Amino acid sequence: ETVQIGPVQVGAFLHQQQLLETIIAADGKVFAGAAIAINPEKVMAAREDPGVAKMLSKAELRYADGIGVVALMRRRLKQPVQRIPGCELWQNLMLRCAEYQVPVYLVGAKAEVLAQTKARLEQQGVPVVGATDGYFKDEQQLLTAILHSGAKVVPVAMGSPRQELLIERLRQQLPDCFFMGVGGSFDVFTG
Ligand code: UDP
Repeated sequence: ETVQIGPVQVGAFLHQQQLLETIIAADGKVFAGAAIAINPEKVMAAREDPGVAKMLSKAELRYADGIGVVALMRRRLKQPVQRIPGCELWQNLMLRCAEYQVPVYLVGAKAEVLAQTKARLEQQGVPVVGATDGYFKDEQQLLTAILHSGAKVVPVAMGSPRQELLIERLRQQLPDCFFMGVGGSFDVFTG
């Protein structure tokens, strides 16, 4: 079920747990595809630029991250919809990966931030099978590394729209993985 907000269809996730259980099901199966946060800025940008609308529509799981979007969803659905902050979703997804031992490949941020992120996640029991900072030169090499790592979940922390564009390209060759753009989350996590 979705709610149409301007040119964007937002998934009717009432709360974060519902989305987490969609990404990693109770039997440990990982959703193949991508998730993207929808906020009023993205809805406005999509109104003005069909290219943005198209980019947003490519992620199957579009969740409400932004009070304006949440308010509209509440009115349309007549249900208590909660805001899902992307950074919080990512951290909780990592804990779910630890719980289900789902292998994770981290992409993005500066090398030092990335190394700290990896170390902290490993302390939490997350199986991090690889990591590449967000300033790599060779995208093909990154793709091969993810492929060989056996990762099932790939968070990309490179800012928008860079991360979404990279995810679109990687997805073509990694159809069984779950991707999410996480912006500055690694910096927040280690800051
Ligand atoms: N970043 C990256 N590669 C780049 C540019 C940025 O990995 O080529 C990382 C940056 O280190 C930071 C994150 O992307 O961890 C978010 O960057 P920024 O704040 O510029 O993006 P925004 O969150 O504003 O979209």
